[in-house]
Amino acid sequence: MIDTHCHLADRRFDRDRAQVFERAHIAGVTHFIEIAHAPEIVPRAHALAREHPNLFLCVGVHPGEAAAVPADYLEVLRDHARHARVVAIGETGLDFYRNRAPREAQERWFRAQIALGDELGLPLVIHQRSALEETLAILEETRPAAGGVLHCFDDGLTAVGRARSLGFKLGIGGVVTYGHPALDDAVRDAPAEMLLLETDAPYLEPEPRTARRNEPALLGRVLARLAALRGWSAEETDRITGENARELFRLPIAGGALPPSGSA
Ligand SMILES: [Zn+2]
Repeated sequence: MIDTHCHLADRRFDRDRAQVFERAHIAGVTHFIEIAHAPEIVPRAHALAREHPNLFLCVGVHPGEAAAVPADYLEVLRDHARHARVVAIGETGLDFYRNRAPREAQERWFRAQIALGDELGLPLVIHQRSALEETLAILEETRPAAGGVLHCFDDGLTAVGRARSLGFKLGIGGVVTYGHPALDDAVRDAPAEMLLLETDAPYLEPEPRTARRNEPALLGRVLARLAALRGWSAEETDRITGENARELFRLPIAGGALPPSGSA
């Protein structure tokens, strides 16, 4: 399995990060895309990438950070994004739920990162909360050339259709195990080539929510739920989502790694 969205540089992993990687390995997670979504996280994410050759990077400014980053950070971000291990820009988008930054600043950084993705030929990892319409409108206006993913997808079939016409994929994570009928329908009916697996660790632990901290080793629970919704085997689900991830992020890795039996 490929965990296409995790935050393993997060401080919540400081005391047992080596074991987190070890448990992920045992559970059949072969590759990670680490999201470095704020300036202070990027150096820690680079350090992780040096230690783990199977970890790729996505660098950007989360909408919640849009007011905190210095105005000249775009130049710094461009340099980070040129690093060989960087496969995407983000997570970027709009968050009108927490509203940690003024909407104007969020939109400015969102548009700047869309332009950066176009300039460097990198896909976008999109975060939106309570801002689906505004986020899709900007994407439909700008039409990012290298596509991207609506991370933590929790919307319905209409959003699937709009994402599809943008050439975007859907990040399927822990939320799919929470039992939302509209999301279940969307995941069941979405084109197979749109589906990606992600944890968003340390956030959004899949059911049963007992650990209070998500980690990539739990990705099998997401895979199992996706497999059940689609009527696919665990192996098929891993193969299809893995191909989709390699295609979108142009990961320089071969396919075919299967989770050990029982891990799903
Ligand atoms: Zn995230």
